[in-house]
Amino acid sequence: MFGSSASMGDPIASPPKQILRFRDSIAETHEARTFRFDPPREGFAWRPGQNLVMTIPGLEDPRGATRPFTISSSPTEGGMVAVSTLVRESPFKQRLAQLAPGDTVENEAIEGEFVLEAGRPAVMIAGGIGVTPFRSMLRFAVDTRLEKPLVLLYSSKTPQDIVFRAELEEFTRRNHAIRVVHTITRPEEAREPWTGRKGRIDAEMIREGMRGVRHPLVYVAGPPGFVKEARRLIDDELHIGKEDLRIDEFDGY
Ligand SMILES: Cc1cc2nc3c(=O)[nH]c(=O)nc-3n(C[C@H](O)[C@H](O)[C@H](O)COP(=O)(O)OP(=O)(O)OC[C@H]3O[C@@H](n4cnc5c(N)ncnc54)[C@H](O)[C@@H]3O)c2cc1C
Repeated sequence: MFGSSASMGDPIASPPKQILRFRDSIAETHEARTFRFDPPREGFAWRPGQNLVMTIPGLEDPRGATRPFTISSSPTEGGMVAVSTLVRESPFKQRLAQLAPGDTVENEAIEGEFVLEAGRPAVMIAGGIGVTPFRSMLRFAVDTRLEKPLVLLYSSKTPQDIVFRAELEEFTRRNHAIRVVHTITRPEEAREPWTGRKGRIDAEMIREGMRGVRHPLVYVAGPPGFVKEARRLIDDELHIGKEDLRIDEFDGY
């Protein structure tokens, strides 16, 4: 048949999808996993802190087959793109956990203004899995030998929930401009002696983190409850202006 509706063209051209080929996955904690993919050889670029938008083709999930995920790898890590997530019960996460090497997923977009700004010191405030953009930024800072101060204040439930724990320690050894301060909110559930900070991130912890850091950009990332509380501290107690603040809220937690 001539002139089929398909040949008339779609009214709105959809952006081309990019294929990500699953390579492998790494357990980060009892619940968190990093999934590594080979991106297309061309046309795939991101800035540390940005997110991709992943679709698992053919997946049936009441919440849809698409999720935004921050890219937890750094562009300096050569031909690999990674996302890190808590593997929970949703069909999406279960399918992700079952990917075999060579399986493919689709990327709809690379987005976000939550990016490392070259030339500015930063104070990064992370709750739980909200640490993913900071892993990308800090790894980038190590690989490119950035010398501006970068302070990560990272709240986890317990020591066993700290994602990228060994790597974060390694980053501070390899780049002395990087400082990482952990706090745990459920010390009673710790499976190891914990001599570090306990309790939620409060204004005092942020003030201490900012001490000696001149005119930092303040980043906050985490689940909505964490971001809400951090915003309250920032607005009511620390009075950090919008121009010095970047927020990444992980909807869906
Ligand atoms: C910019 C951005 C970056 C992000 N980066 C990351 C990241 O790096 N890592 C990461 O892990 N996540 C990230 N997220 C969140 C991610 O996109 C998912 O939303 C999250 O991982 C939860 O996915 P899920 O499949 O486990 O849960 P979903 O199936 O999406 O469910 C989300 C929540 O809704 C509840 N729910 C499920 N079904 C229903 C229903 N029918 N009615 C009501 N409630 C329901 C679930 O219990 C759960 O609490 C990011 C989100 C944004 C917006």
